[in-house]
Amino acid sequence: MTAETPKESAIRPIHHLINGDPVVSDSGRKSPVFNPATGEQTGELDLASVSDVDMAVSSAKAAFDQWRNVSLARRTKLMFAYRDLVSRNAEEIAHRLTAEHGKVMSDSMGEVARGLENIEYACGLSEHLKGTYSEHASTGVDVYSVRRPLGVVAGITPFNFPAMVPFWMFPNAIACGNTFILKPSERDPSAPTFIAELLQEAGFPPGVLNVVHGDKVAVDRLLEHRDIQAVSFVGSTPIAKYVYELGSANGKRVQALGGAKNHMVVLPDADIDLAADCAVSAAYGSAGERCMAISVVVAVGEVGDPLVAAIKTRTKKLRVGPGTNPTSEMGPLITAEHLGRVTNYISTAADNGARIVLDGRGIKVNTSGFFLGATLLDDVTTEMSVYTDEIFGPVLCVVRVNTYHEAVELLANNPWGNGAAIFTRDGGAARRFQEDADAGMIGLNVPIPVPVGYHSFGGWKNSAFGAHTIYGPEGIHFYTRPKVMTTRWPDPSGSKVDLGFPTNQ
Ligand code: NAD
Repeated sequence: MTAETPKESAIRPIHHLINGDPVVSDSGRKSPVFNPATGEQTGELDLASVSDVDMAVSSAKAAFDQWRNVSLARRTKLMFAYRDLVSRNAEEIAHRLTAEHGKVMSDSMGEVARGLENIEYACGLSEHLKGTYSEHASTGVDVYSVRRPLGVVAGITPFNFPAMVPFWMFPNAIACGNTFILKPSERDPSAPTFIAELLQEAGFPPGVLNVVHGDKVAVDRLLEHRDIQAVSFVGSTPIAKYVYELGSANGKRVQALGGAKNHMVVLPDADIDLAADCAVSAAYGSAGERCMAISVVVAVGEVGDPLVAAIKTRTKKLRVGPGTNPTSEMGPLITAEHLGRVTNYISTAADNGARIVLDGRGIKVNTSGFFLGATLLDDVTTEMSVYTDEIFGPVLCVVRVNTYHEAVELLANNPWGNGAAIFTRDGGAARRFQEDADAGMIGLNVPIPVPVGYHSFGGWKNSAFGAHTIYGPEGIHFYTRPKVMTTRWPDPSGSKVDLGFPTNQ
């Protein structure tokens, strides 16, 4: 009799990564992970208990005592090795992103590429951590400052960039000599777990980067644990505010990036083809689930009709389908609940008088995934919920105004201030906009002005809480604290050391 081959379960367990090893949670709590393109459950995620988090913190704390003293030269070599590994595994990471997030493969590859920028920036750690020195501040007195790591720091990340947002955080944090605990989104945890495994493979000591999966229980424990010195958060505005307030109340340094409602102003002199191409890619790329997505086009004056027509023509051609299909240009939404929520916004907007130019509801895709077609709404007003709320789906609103001044007023009155863009051929107007626009990142004929890895990313108003923006130079500042030494070494006259030449006295 032959032994029956055990049937391989299609549902993969996903565990924490603590001290370099997979760790099964002791909580007994689990969360399903879905493939949004098929609607099927593909994973079962451990949700951390308080003791799981404590184990990760102990590991990170023990690792910090060693890691902080590892030479800059060694840290740099390890970071370069990690950069190479991530680069070589880009496609594997992208597959994991597409499988659990749903974005099309080209988007997933783009996400890895943007994440790599942050690792490359961290490779320059010896330059970033150089101190400053003032000699002869007074007679015999020199002053110098260095930047010291903080200790154990934590990162809590959203579902929409499961690899890139962690890359915004841990490479710089670790380069600075900290150890890190990552708490990824519970919706798409495989890519962040994999990039942490690659860090072990690159040769970083165990405990330098730990991953705990979980929900509010894990987040709350990270925010209250006394051995955690700082928290980086990226996610929705209500949770960003909560994390900022609780973390700060517990004495931690916190940077908490929140949601967005990004406006793209189009002036009458704009290149309409360019503006329409950009509006379509920035509104519907990654099914609108980007914090820098364009959510509102502000059409100024007579540009409205031709612009809406040009956006419509392009949007109609968008191919919606599973992210693994090379012909798909837009994938599904993250969950069935989110699909329902976005669909409701469209219905409410229509009821309140918005004109549906293209309706993505009821799109037919040959799977039972969470698909919504690209939707274009014209004549949206500022009282409609589709304008006041962050939708985070493939819905582009067009608000029509008469003047540039009205357009910048819209931005000023918006509670968010992540990104803003203007499309115009007028250099003077563009220059004026970069001053007037009430947002942290501005695009001039660029719809999604996500800064390169050697600048820093961050919005204003309800899009970010805390003093420092994320990654780049501000990231290095966030993950270090300065120490300043004032030294006095008087001229060695009368000292026991004979320098063999006359002294000043
Ligand atoms: P989210 O706020 O629901 O979740 C973010 C993280 O917080 C996750 O790790 C989640 O587990 C945790 N969390 C959720 N609810 C919690 C609670 N009640 N208590 C404690 N922790 C909790 O965000 P999301 O849906 O994963 O991501 C989408 C949001 O993130 C959008 O609002 C988007 O604009 C925003 N985002 C902002 C940026 C930025 O740079 N400003 C970048 C990416 C995404």
